[in-house]
Amino acid sequence: MELDLGPELRAFRDEIRTFLAEHRIEELAGQDEMAGYAGQAEPESETRAAAWSEWEAALAKERLICPQWPEEVGGRGLSGVEMAILNEEFDRAGMPRVVRGMGESLVGPSIIVHGTEEQKAYFLPRIIDGTDRYCQGFSEPDHGSDLAGVETRGVVDGDEVVITGQKVWTSGAHRANTIFILCRTDPDAPKHRGLSYVLVPMKREDGSSNGIDLRPLRQMSGASGFCQEFIDGARAPLFNVIGGLNNGWRVAMTTLGNERGGRATTQHLRYEREFWDLVDTARKLSADKDPLVRQDLAWAYTHVQLMRYSGLRLLSTLAAKREPGPEASVNKLFWSEYHKRFGNIAINLLGAQGMIRPEGPGYRTDRWQQVFLGSRAGTIFSGTSEIQHNIIGERALGLPKEPAVG
Ligand SMILES: Cc1cc2nc3c(=O)[nH]c(=O)nc-3n(C[C@H](O)[C@H](O)[C@H](O)COP(=O)(O)OP(=O)(O)OC[C@H]3O[C@@H](n4cnc5c(N)ncnc54)[C@H](O)[C@@H]3O)c2cc1C
Repeated sequence: MELDLGPELRAFRDEIRTFLAEHRIEELAGQDEMAGYAGQAEPESETRAAAWSEWEAALAKERLICPQWPEEVGGRGLSGVEMAILNEEFDRAGMPRVVRGMGESLVGPSIIVHGTEEQKAYFLPRIIDGTDRYCQGFSEPDHGSDLAGVETRGVVDGDEVVITGQKVWTSGAHRANTIFILCRTDPDAPKHRGLSYVLVPMKREDGSSNGIDLRPLRQMSGASGFCQEFIDGARAPLFNVIGGLNNGWRVAMTTLGNERGGRATTQHLRYEREFWDLVDTARKLSADKDPLVRQDLAWAYTHVQLMRYSGLRLLSTLAAKREPGPEASVNKLFWSEYHKRFGNIAINLLGAQGMIRPEGPGYRTDRWQQVFLGSRAGTIFSGTSEIQHNIIGERALGLPKEPAVG
């Protein structure tokens, strides 16, 4: 089913569909959109790298990189509904969007809201053209859920901030060249008030260390998708403080709102594809007639459809130009808990075979083992499920606040 949202949006859908048909590059069909994220993936071949450059140039020409950003900062000013249509059409064509990771989805939107005109003019084009690749330095060993308690210190020294402390669970840090750090610049202020949001280069301009010692962390899935950083005197210009000194909490909340809302309007597409792949696996294993398997699959399908309908509800909120409320937390809780149970269903379906890793070097896991192990992370990052429950209870349902410890 395709939503009919009126003639203007229909024309927009047609425009994107035509663009995709005219510029399609077969070599990239079916590629993960993150594969081209500013050189994240090692291109398998020169031809593949050339194909990405050609695809990037075509999208850039139509302002289809960071297209949700306002036109005056280099985007195309697409509304939430238009973004949903855009994502649907790319998905339908099997072509990857060129995405700029955390720069596009977290840092850019925070700069747009809290940055000065000079900061917008400097930082945003560098995200669009892939010069700056960001990672998120919020969590610390003792401060994950309790983010406002971060202890990493930022001290103003002339026209620079000098940062010392420790960050952990930093996704993609080994591929980033800039880390956005939440640090304490006023230790005497109440804890939410003494924080600053600073964009810190991972290396100095001459390529030497900026005092950030990066150490990869191995996950139970075998991948090393994130790092911890020991930071000793990393320097950033005061110009890189977004939202003003000691005003970092507000900026961080904008970042987290964007992180939790994600792609709520179209995320069901990915889960639906994954669901049908599992049905295929069930058929191959002749498990598709097993009533317990069918019951699990029916549960999963129902939940993907619920995700789709709640995406449509969010779309109609956006189409009516109303601000979404606590949907971001509801959405985050729903998809992450769904995916964790889906991982259990997949691994149960494989039976004993699910306990055996594929042969090969390193710590290999197959697709469903990856879902089973990796989906646990979804209920932790961007605020754990317990934290989302607290937000929904207190801010959406108006329940009494959780008593503070001590
Ligand atoms: C895959 C992955 C990627 C990540 N990427 C990043 C990243 O790029 N950058 C970054 O900064 N961080 C990142 N994180 C870290 C993530 O944000 C934290 O792990 C998360 O906020 C939880 O913090 P914690 O691990 O310190 O757990 P804690 O905060 O110590 O929580 C431990 C347990 O206590 C519960 N709990 C804590 N407080 C409460 C409360 N008030 N009420 C009820 N229960 C509570 C939690 O739900 C959890 O079950 C990532 C994490 C994962 C798993």
